Amino acid sequence: MLKTTKIPNAARRQEEEPLMHLFVPKEHDSRETRTALTPDGAAQLIKLGAEVTVEAGLGEKSGFPDALYENAGARLTSDRNAALQAASAVLQVCKPSVADVALMKEGTLLICLLEPFTSFDVLDALEKQKVNAVSLEMIPRTTLAQKMDVLSSQANLAGYVAVLTAANRLSQVLPMMMTPAGTLKPARVFIIGVGVAGLQAIATAKRLGARVEAFDTRPAVEEQVHSLGAKFVKIDLGETGQTKDGYAKELTEEQKELQKAGMAKVIAQSDIVITTAQVFGKSAPRIVSRAMVEAMKPGSVVVDLAAETGGNVEGAQAGAEVNINGVRLIGAENFAGRVAGHASQMFSSNSVNFITHFWDKENKDIHLNLEDEIMDGCLIILNGALRNEMIRKARQA
Ligand code: NAD
Repeated sequence: MLKTTKIPNAARRQEEEPLMHLFVPKEHDSRETRTALTPDGAAQLIKLGAEVTVEAGLGEKSGFPDALYENAGARLTSDRNAALQAASAVLQVCKPSVADVALMKEGTLLICLLEPFTSFDVLDALEKQKVNAVSLEMIPRTTLAQKMDVLSSQANLAGYVAVLTAANRLSQVLPMMMTPAGTLKPARVFIIGVGVAGLQAIATAKRLGARVEAFDTRPAVEEQVHSLGAKFVKIDLGETGQTKDGYAKELTEEQKELQKAGMAKVIAQSDIVITTAQVFGKSAPRIVSRAMVEAMKPGSVVVDLAAETGGNVEGAQAGAEVNINGVRLIGAENFAGRVAGHASQMFSSNSVNFITHFWDKENKDIHLNLEDEIMDGCLIILNGALRNEMIRKARQA
């Protein structure tokens, strides 16, 4: 059995209480619009007993001015480097730069979306610096952890944005319209991948009056598709299954070909296709070929929500729209960030829930309790060592 671990932190011992000195820097990638902690979130953590410092201008892209953080009791600083050096915990949306990690002291706890299956340079830097790291992607998908589940909260918004983006670029309307000038048929929308993003995409397209069909390799979702008033496209792929966390398993090459053949006709008849298929810890499966896109009517739209992780659709480029024989192929890039206010609100709420769950009232600090399956799953670096087998294998590959 794992032992409960309290992290020795020389720097912390020298400090007066409160022990958690949390710093929230502006995002390293200047294109990132979300912020990891809202003023309300800061107020909640301060109430718990933490000391919160935020970089000046933290919420300027998501609608949270500095004054709101000050009113909430947070300190503001323009000296990012000094704040990174002084912090005992750092919270941000995306992974830090290697240079930022180099400023953090030993024993600091970093909490963010670390992209642990690809960001090996950052993992190396964290190990070298002995910065402990929580990868929010690795929070187990359990009922208890739902309130901390950043992947879900952000995917939900991305599914919504995907439909609005497609509707905006489509040369038709989505709902049926009966007018004196004639009747307009409802748009046909096909959603591939019915996880969190796909379910929200179905619900959003239905609200706009479209005729919606959906497919997923996990047969368990058929009922959920029906409950949203959409049609489930049945394709017999043989045994597909899912992992204990509910994630899809990777298909064999033969199954991928069967899937393509089964989807080709539905795709050709659709006005909008939205792909959201992911296989956890791996590149997104390539399931829509260029020929399948070419078979769609000119003026149709394809949105590839998996464009940033390898792409479900051949030719999709993250952050770009490509025209294929009159079909607009949009590669999604940070779609949750397009609704940065709500995305930040949800990210912040998830993060505050995470910290609160592990709050040690006496020490006024987070307790890295490895007996808790949530912490055991997401604390991927501890005392300079990577402690997740799946990530270790990906790094060695
Ligand atoms: P995801 O982002 O990993 O993948 C999106 C969807 O793509 C999944 O539904 C997956 O089955 C599907 N997919 C994979 N390969 C495909 C292919 N070749 N063709 C079509 N679809 C394909 O999924 P997610 O949104 O993160 O959800 C994963 C699972 O976790 C789901 O079962 C979801 O219900 C569950 N979940 C549980 C909780 C919880 O209980 N706390 C929270 C969120 C999600």
